[in-house]
Amino acid sequence: MAIETPKVLDCSVTECSYNTNKACHAIAITVGDSTCAMCDTYYKSSQKGGAMEITGSVGACKEDDCKFNKSLECAASGIHVANHMGHADCSTYSRR
Ligand code: SF4
Ligand code: SF4
Repeated sequence: MAIETPKVLDCSVTECSYNTNKACHAIAITVGDSTCAMCDTYYKSSQKGGAMEITGSVGACKEDDCKFNKSLECAASGIHVANHMGHADCSTYSRR
């Protein structure tokens, strides 16, 4: 059975190495830490990374208090990522 991973529909954190024109090109991001629905894949560098031919998607998410989280995976149809207090956060996060 093929499993669809939720796409990063847009990401406004343009200084991230994986970001080009507000699109994420990391193959699979990891979301969540102890306090925020943070994009753990965020990386600031002069080097651009990722695969230009793909749109990034959520590989895993540790925010188990989000209503879209099922068994530490994201079940949303897609997510938005934006700057929140100086770091990249999943803005689709919604507390159960
Ligand atoms: S979703 Fe994360 S890895 Fe992708 S461009 Fe945004 S901050 Fe970077
Ligand atoms: S919508 Fe919820 S489950 Fe999906 S990546 Fe964001 S915080 Fe994680």
